[in-house]
Amino acid sequence: MIPLVDLKKQYATIQDDIVEAMLEVLDSGQYILGSKVTELESAIAKRLGVKHAIAVGNGTDALVLTLDAYGIGSGDEVITTTFSFFATAEAISRVGATPVFVDIDPVSFNIDPNKIIDKITPRTKAILPVHLFGQPADMDKILEIAMNYNLLVIEDACQAFGATFMQQEVGSIGDAACFSFFPTKNLGTIGDGGLITTYDDRLAESIRKLRAHGSSKKYYHQQIGYNSRLDEIHAAFLLICLKEIDQWNEQRVSIADYYFSHLKDSKTVELPVVLPNRSHVFHLFCLKSEKRQQIMSALNRADIQTGIYYPLCLHAQEAYKGLGYSMGDFPVAEMASSQLFAIPMHPYLSRKEQDMIIEHISKASEQL
Ligand SMILES: *Cc1c(COP(=O)(O)O)cnc(C)c1O
Repeated sequence: MIPLVDLKKQYATIQDDIVEAMLEVLDSGQYILGSKVTELESAIAKRLGVKHAIAVGNGTDALVLTLDAYGIGSGDEVITTTFSFFATAEAISRVGATPVFVDIDPVSFNIDPNKIIDKITPRTKAILPVHLFGQPADMDKILEIAMNYNLLVIEDACQAFGATFMQQEVGSIGDAACFSFFPTKNLGTIGDGGLITTYDDRLAESIRKLRAHGSSKKYYHQQIGYNSRLDEIHAAFLLICLKEIDQWNEQRVSIADYYFSHLKDSKTVELPVVLPNRSHVFHLFCLKSEKRQQIMSALNRADIQTGIYYPLCLHAQEAYKGLGYSMGDFPVAEMASSQLFAIPMHPYLSRKEQDMIIEHISKASEQL
């Protein structure tokens, strides 16, 4: 079988370093918020050129704690895309605020900045763009709107570690940014993990408090917080991956290039498009086709895994019935949810495997 991602292959390339680091953590007797977490936070802050990086339990918590630390809650609105993983909107709802959805750009599938202004009300506090599939959202337009309307910009960078917009890495562009280290993300650990980056001293201090039960001094609690910390074992794992991430991202781009050159003449599938002034790290490689079901079935019959990201837009989720949206409200996102499908993409996908995937897509297309 050719899987969508192959974590075992990637792990095999760093196994010796990982085993050594794991043993070091086990021997240290220090398992939560110790020196490895501090080292990871400093390394990521330095890499992105931001003042603070705060590691937390997962990417969803990164979003929740950031919104909470900004005081966003009941009665507030946060503008975001309707085409993302559920956690993006869930975090907004979790703090008591209301997600206000916006349709996407038909080329990048990221939030359409031209449709944001119409959604701004006196209750709007922030814009939460997602760098979907590893391609940065249109950050210059989003920052300009945020500046004109005095709104915060919180990047959901969970799928895009290392991607750049106008040479600037995601996570260093907005007021704050949230990353996920879920195993299948382009920078992932062996369990759950997340991180927030920001230049803002007060926000960082507040998030540090929130992640440890609202406390900055042990057993003295200034506010109601969370238990959302990164384990040492994950920090140690991620420190090793951080040394590899640029190479892994480059390998993803090279695999994407090979798909591009061999599928560019297809009349059945449309390739992803990288918009100007940005780099794409291809967390996912999604094709678009009106014949999605037939092509996916042909690939699955040939033992090639495929996936749909995402089969249902956020405004159409049952959990958001109460917000009063209907199908037809966001036609571009609805089209994307009915036509996009992911094919295998990870740094160690071989040319031979790619050739097979390409061959089966071409064969299936001819038979349509
Ligand atoms: C994965 C992901 C999250 C949530 O991250 P977890 O670590 O799984 O909690 C949030 N937003 C987006 C866009 C994601 O892809």
